[in-house]
Amino acid sequence: MSDRKKLLVQKFGGTSLADLRGFTASADVIGSYTGTYRVIVVLSAVKGVTDLLLAAIDTAVDGGDGASHLDQALARERAIVDDLAHDGVATPLASDYLAEQQATLTRRVEGIRLLGQCPDETRARILASGEGFSSRLMVDVLQGRGVSALWSDTDVLPLANDNWLDSLVDVDAAAPLLKKRLEQDSDVVVLPGFYGRNAKGDIQLLGRNGTDYSAAAIAAATGASLCQIWKDVDGFFTADPRIVSNAQCLDEVSYDEAMELTYFGAKVISAKALTPLTVSNIPCEVRNTYDPSKPGTLVHRDAKRSHVVRGISHLHDVASITMQGGGLRGRVGIARRVMDALASESISILLIVQSSSEYSITLCVRRSDEKKARRALEEEFHFERLHDLIEEISVQSDRAVVSLVGEGMKHYRGIAARFLTAISSAGVNVEVIAQGSTECAIAVVVKGDDAQPATRACHTAFFSHSTHIDVILLGCGNVGGELLAQFQRQADSLIEHHMDLRVRAIANSERLLVANDVIDLARWREDLQQKGRSWTLEDVLGIRKKLGLLNPTIIDCTTDQGLAGEYVRFLQNGYNVVAANKKANTSDFAYYREMRETAARNFRKFLYETNVGAGLPVIDTMQSLIRSGDELRTFEGILSGSLSMIFGLLEDGKSLSEAVGEAMKLGFTEPDPRDDLSGMDVARKLLIIAREVGLQLELDDIEVEPVVPMEQVGQVDRADLIGALEALNGDFAAKTAEAKANGDVLRYVARIEAGKCRVSIEAVPGSKPLGAIRDGENALVLHTLYYQPIPLVLRGYGAGAAVTASGVFGDILRTVWRPLDNQAVN
Ligand code: ADP
Ligand code: ASP
Ligand code: MG
Repeated sequence: MSDRKKLLVQKFGGTSLADLRGFTASADVIGSYTGTYRVIVVLSAVKGVTDLLLAAIDTAVDGGDGASHLDQALARERAIVDDLAHDGVATPLASDYLAEQQATLTRRVEGIRLLGQCPDETRARILASGEGFSSRLMVDVLQGRGVSALWSDTDVLPLANDNWLDSLVDVDAAAPLLKKRLEQDSDVVVLPGFYGRNAKGDIQLLGRNGTDYSAAAIAAATGASLCQIWKDVDGFFTADPRIVSNAQCLDEVSYDEAMELTYFGAKVISAKALTPLTVSNIPCEVRNTYDPSKPGTLVHRDAKRSHVVRGISHLHDVASITMQGGGLRGRVGIARRVMDALASESISILLIVQSSSEYSITLCVRRSDEKKARRALEEEFHFERLHDLIEEISVQSDRAVVSLVGEGMKHYRGIAARFLTAISSAGVNVEVIAQGSTECAIAVVVKGDDAQPATRACHTAFFSHSTHIDVILLGCGNVGGELLAQFQRQADSLIEHHMDLRVRAIANSERLLVANDVIDLARWREDLQQKGRSWTLEDVLGIRKKLGLLNPTIIDCTTDQGLAGEYVRFLQNGYNVVAANKKANTSDFAYYREMRETAARNFRKFLYETNVGAGLPVIDTMQSLIRSGDELRTFEGILSGSLSMIFGLLEDGKSLSEAVGEAMKLGFTEPDPRDDLSGMDVARKLLIIAREVGLQLELDDIEVEPVVPMEQVGQVDRADLIGALEALNGDFAAKTAEAKANGDVLRYVARIEAGKCRVSIEAVPGSKPLGAIRDGENALVLHTLYYQPIPLVLRGYGAGAAVTASGVFGDILRTVWRPLDNQAVN
């Protein structure tokens, strides 16, 4: 080993050592550095082994069958040895160790069960076994490849304090010992992480996830030029990639940023490990064992400050404790007493805030410390409690801390406001807010279940450079299906315009499909069929929170009355509503008003452009007119595509039964044409228009003359309908002829005049706007204060899946809301 080579410390975590593939990939990485570096490798236990050993101990303490957990741990280790043997790789060190540990650990766990307790010293020895194994196995693997590798015990890591489970390395004392060990001739020195040895040579642990710290302490003691943390992810992400699917890998972070991110939960490098690295100013790379071509994240002092916010982390299993009472007011030293009381029990305080009135103090600790912390505070404030100076000490158990981290934050205003807006937009309640004096992080305490939605929402708010449009589609028949096809066709063009339209859930009457990320529009039918589940309204209402959606929209492409009755709840729960369904707007007027008030109160949108005239811009035009002070005088319109078609055919000399039959064949009518012939569909549309211009009417107030008397055709079977209509042919022929004689044509007209609404067959002059409307076209003629004597006329296809879906699409784009101007931030 050449002394001139620079020194590299590499740490491989459990995720890099899960199985044979992990060991092989890790050995590949190690081998690729031996040419340029002297390499010290520090290893965690095989993935999951420490947890299993811990479970074995805890189960045995409770008198249970700890041996079965122990067996599982050993089986994981043995499986890798067996796989290597199968590949012809000898594992002398690891196999001997495994056999020896099998006997020792079994004896110890049985002893614990009999005693009903486990001294910390024994606990440390048992838990250290995982690293003892993996480090030996790595030496076997490296030697099997011809790399000269030496196993080293952790006697080179003397400890600075006497703590069996969470000790500290005496870096200065370790330096000469390590130097000596490195004098031995080998390319690689492999050490177990997670523990060192005290003055007597006993094993003491360095705390959970302590291998990062082992590596950092070794790097500091040896003055290594680089420390590497090898994991199963590309590096430090802007948020936990398991939760935020579009989290981005950072190329660099400062020590302080890494500290804040990891302190509050980012599982990348343990917070404890950052101290030796920072003090010795050793750069640290976080890299992916399974993809070493990726550069990873560099943690170092000189990380550029170009980003204001670096990342978001969340920490689960937190308890928040609040003390309040008049006795706290104006008294000096309360916070210090709180801290002292907890410190004396070795409980670390994650965050602490005092209300400005000094009436209450809230602090957070890990949930495992909750009981101890409460007891310590009760004892410390015994006198105050006895004299009612402090009310009960209240504890909220299932809490989480979500924090926003970035060194650049201190130079910008309003970051906290953006952070809190995003969280509240996700429907999450913030219980405590804390900003450290370094201004490198802002942390909030939320309910445990709210941590994920809050994290996702914040990530969207700070790291997404495009506007997200999250939609849930209810009803995926004709119009809904066409809408999804249009989404798919437009996706690229929307992205060009920085809009990211994401379908998060789709439902028909039977099934609901919710995507964790987005629904694959190329195969939504199959996925809905195969992965969709039966659903209730609560499932739909819960999606927003579950996925952390900022400004989601529910699209109702059904004709369901029940669903229409739920819009108020949708709006209350933070959804915009886009409805092709007309039922809500034609329910009673009280509900009509409630929907609008709820939307306004909750800052949500309720849009329904396709309720009248499908894709024709009817509602928007009318709303603009009214807002600008115009007033409707009279309205007349042809509002049904089917009746427009049928009356056009009558004009051409077809009989009524022929005209209906042909319109059916062309797909222009409802499945049962009586739904059109009753006039009720047109009446609903007219009611919507009337309400839009300020008339407070109910559906009953609309005078409806059906196309054909419903008494005559209402009861017959659908198959016999055409036959039944034949009886009316003569009547219609006579009416058509009479109109023609006067230069008129028959049309089914919706009319508003002097505040009265009526839908009926009318003879209209062929020369007037409505006279020309046929073949499925719709027309709306508005005589208003401004538009007179020549009225405003809107005409065009007013039915059909394509135009309706495009109208719905238009509404969806109008829900866009730029919550936070991210570009200015990041
Ligand atoms: P190891 O023990 O191998 O070092 P860990 O048990 O620490 O690995 O877990 C690594 C996991 O931490 C990753 O797979 C990733 O899902 C998760 N993680 C959480 N937050 C982050 C983050 N901000 N960046 C990267 N990974 C993160
Ligand atoms: N195996 C130990 C743990 O799981 C140490 C480590 O992996 O860093 O806590
Ligand atoms: Mg780990």
